[in-house]
Amino acid sequence: MKDYIIIPEKEFRAHEECGIFGIYSSKPQNLAQEIYYGLFALQHRGQESAGIAVAYDKNKIAYYKNMGLVNDVFGTEELKLLPESQVGIGHVRYSTTGSSNVVNAQPVVFYGRYGRLAIAHNGNIVNAETIRNKMIKAGHIFQSSIDTEVMAVLINHYATDSLMEGILRACEDILGAYAFVIMSGTALYAARDPRGMKPLVMGEKDGMVIFASESCALDAVDARVIRDIEPGEVIKVNPDGTTESVFLNDINTKHCIFEYVYLARSDSIIDNVSVYEARHRCGKLLAELHKIDADIVSGVPDSAIVAARAYSEASGIPYVDALSKNRYVGRSFIQPSQEMRESSVKIKLNVFRSNIKGKRLILIDDSIVRGTTSKKIIKLLRQNGAREVHMLVASPIIKFPCFFGVDMQTKEQLIGGFQDENAICAEIGADSLHYIPLELLKSACNCTNDNYCVACFDGNYPYDMDDIHCGNHILEC
Ligand code: SF4
Repeated sequence: MKDYIIIPEKEFRAHEECGIFGIYSSKPQNLAQEIYYGLFALQHRGQESAGIAVAYDKNKIAYYKNMGLVNDVFGTEELKLLPESQVGIGHVRYSTTGSSNVVNAQPVVFYGRYGRLAIAHNGNIVNAETIRNKMIKAGHIFQSSIDTEVMAVLINHYATDSLMEGILRACEDILGAYAFVIMSGTALYAARDPRGMKPLVMGEKDGMVIFASESCALDAVDARVIRDIEPGEVIKVNPDGTTESVFLNDINTKHCIFEYVYLARSDSIIDNVSVYEARHRCGKLLAELHKIDADIVSGVPDSAIVAARAYSEASGIPYVDALSKNRYVGRSFIQPSQEMRESSVKIKLNVFRSNIKGKRLILIDDSIVRGTTSKKIIKLLRQNGAREVHMLVASPIIKFPCFFGVDMQTKEQLIGGFQDENAICAEIGADSLHYIPLELLKSACNCTNDNYCVACFDGNYPYDMDDIHCGNHILEC
C-alpha cells in the first residue's frame, strides 16, 4: 500500500508569479548577501529561477541569475561575483507568462537612456502583448517573452527627462497587477499598481531602505517594517536615504484576497492584515458554520494548517497531523540522474497512517483549484484507513480565471469553473464538502469598502476587461 503521493509542483496549487526584493544603502556594503536572505524568505512565491543585481562603479550593474531555487542558484562563489554596492534588487520567479528558461529569469538588466538599469517585477500586465506588438512595429526589439521586458522598454521609451517620468508614463499605459523595483547605478525606485493588487512593503535597517513582496522577507534580514506601499504609489529613494512618493491616476484599491487564502506566508502582514490571523478567523468561521460529527481534524500542509488548528480549537475536535509535506531544497545539480534532478521540483506528501486509521476525518484545505490534488489526497487517506473524509475549504468555490499573475488562467482549468459543490464533492471523492461563503472570507480578511479583488470567486474583475488582450488570447467576459 502506498503511504505517499508525489504531486508535480505545477499541479499542487495555484501559484504566484514572483517575489521581489530591493535595497538602497547610504554606504557601499555587501547587499547581495542581504538580498539572498530576503529571496530565501520569498521562495514560496517562485521556485523556477532566482537572480540578484547590484550596482557598482556608479553606472555599472553586476548580476547573476539562473534556473532553480535560491540556494541552488547562489552559492558562496556566485555571491562573491557581486561586489559591494549601495543599490541592489533580487527576484524569484514562477512563470505564468513567458517560458521557463534563463532568458526570462529576472532581474531584467538592460542599457537605456540612463545607462544600466535593472528591473524585478511581480504580477501580470494584461495588455503586455498589445504594447509589445505596437512597440515592435515602431522599431523596438525584445529578447524575452516576459511582460517585465515590455515594462522595461516602455519605461526607457518615456524616460526623456528623468527615470521617474519614464516610470510614471509607463504605468499609465500598462494595465494589470504589478509591484516592481527598478534600479539605476545610483538610485532605487519601487512601485505598486493603482489597484494595489500585488503586495509590496517598505522597511528599514541601519540606514538601508528595503522593499519586499512580503514582510517575512524584511524579518529575514532583521529589518523594521515601515509601511506598505500604497496602491498607485511610486517611490524614489534619494541618495541620503529619504524617500519621495508620486501617485498614479485612477487609484481604486483591490488587494488580491488570494494572498491571505494561499499565496503569502502565514507569518507575513500584508496591508496591515496578518495573514495568520485571517486564516485563523477562516478556521473558526468554518467551525461555526459546519458542525460535523468526526473524530479528528487536520489541514493540508502548509497553508491550511492554521485554519485547521483554529477549527479544532473552536469545535473541540482534536487536531492531528494527517499529511506531511517535504519539499526538497538541496542543490539539484549534484543529483546523479535526470530523474532525481526532476524530483527536486516535486512535492512529496506522506500520510501518518496510525493517526488516521479507522477515524472519521475532517480535512481542511485553503482552496481547491483544479481538484486533482484533493482527489489524490482523499484517495490516499482512504487507502490508509480513514473511515470518512469530510472536506472543508477556507475559501469559496473558485469559478473564474485569474489574469493577474496567479496560475489559474482558464475556466477549464478550474474544477469549480462549471460545477457546483455537490458535483465537486463527487469528483474529488469526499464524504461531504463545504466552502466558506465569500462575505465571510472578506470579513476574515478585514475587507472594508470592497477593497479586495475577489474576481476568481465572483467574476468582478478590477479592470474593465473588455477587449484587453491577455497574453495570446482576448478575454471572454
Ligand atoms: S482574481 Fe483571485 S487570484 Fe487573481 S488577483 Fe483577483 S483575487 Fe487574486
